[in-house]
Amino acid sequence: MTTSEKLIATEQRLGANNYKPLDVVLTRGEGVYVWDTDGNRYLDCLSAYSAVNQGHCHPKILAAMVEQAGRLTLTSRAFRNDQLAYLYEELAALTGSHKILPMNSGAEAVETAIKAVRKWGYEVKGVPEGKAEIIVCADNFHGRTLSIISFSTDPDARIGFGPYTPGFRTIPFGDAEAFAAAINANTVAALIEPIQGEAGVIIPPAGYFTRIRELCTDNNVTLILDEIQTGLGRTGKLLAEEHEGIEADVTLIGKALSGGFYPVSAVLSNSEVLGVLKPGQHGSTFGGNPLACAVARTALKVLTEEGMIENAAVMGDYFLDGLRSIRSNIVRDVRGRGLMMAIELEPEAGGARQYCHALKERGLLAKDTHDHTIRLAPPLVITREQVDWAVSQIEKTIG
Ligand SMILES: *Cc1c(COP(=O)(O)O)cnc(C)c1O
Repeated sequence: MTTSEKLIATEQRLGANNYKPLDVVLTRGEGVYVWDTDGNRYLDCLSAYSAVNQGHCHPKILAAMVEQAGRLTLTSRAFRNDQLAYLYEELAALTGSHKILPMNSGAEAVETAIKAVRKWGYEVKGVPEGKAEIIVCADNFHGRTLSIISFSTDPDARIGFGPYTPGFRTIPFGDAEAFAAAINANTVAALIEPIQGEAGVIIPPAGYFTRIRELCTDNNVTLILDEIQTGLGRTGKLLAEEHEGIEADVTLIGKALSGGFYPVSAVLSNSEVLGVLKPGQHGSTFGGNPLACAVARTALKVLTEEGMIENAAVMGDYFLDGLRSIRSNIVRDVRGRGLMMAIELEPEAGGARQYCHALKERGLLAKDTHDHTIRLAPPLVITREQVDWAVSQIEKTIG
């Protein structure tokens, strides 16, 4: 048995089988590339679901992490640390947010937002206690905790895990009039992904978010955008909301906030919503710790200073053009914004996973999603030559 075969067998034997990974055992990463235990190199077109937008093992983030790890890692929020204020200041300057709450995983940021808007609903909007409703979209992905899977429409994510958290109302994604019809006096918030990533990179019609913003403002409903995947440069803008020139009341970020080094997430908000939380009402032992803050500060800094967001816009257009030029009778649709892209295959093609296997054999790692879609999301540091190479491998696989 090779090393990788041994490791895979051990994982299968001892691990909960809640994942079905491609059988590639990675041991090293640098920029857009990762290497397996047999020394094979791959172009990473998943980027850990957009957590490594800055590229694998970015040297500046690494240096910040090592430096901070040798100085101070965790104080809990019982005391203050000398990194948190700087992270707040830099995030506020970058995003225009007025209040920030740091957490660890994306799901925790979503849970935090749900708590905050419910409390805002009772204390500010005047919704009767226990009646708050949050509008969500079908085919959403917001994480794996109980309240979040309670409003998932994916049977795998939801079935068997009840009883479910009430207080959510589901409407189709991309349909602003369905949203208008779902609002009532108890609606405290809408929780929406700017582009549905896990659903297969579903982009709503132009004007959708402008209308959603209008409806939220007119009805005193908090607009929460889950930018955990779309945010931090992925779509060619710092935040995907910028594509429609709108501003959410609450924005959730995570994943690339640490450049893949550490779980760091944050709730960004206007003063009113996070303003309802008082001491003792919410917290996290690790949230806002100095190691997380130092890593996040540098992850944000390299994202902007090294032109990664602009590169995502330019390379995203170029990549998409390349994909669209592939002649293939098994491709149903090619779509994307920035470096968040997907190839949807015809159902007769027999599923996307076999093509992800074939791409792996050619040195390109991508992930199938929802049976027929290959999702492509390389690190934002990808070059034109690397895009050319990727497109040619994809062409050889599905062309
Ligand atoms: C990944 C993701 C989450 C959950 O983040 P975790 O860190 O895995 O908890 C939430 N929302 C969106 C849109 C995501 O892509």
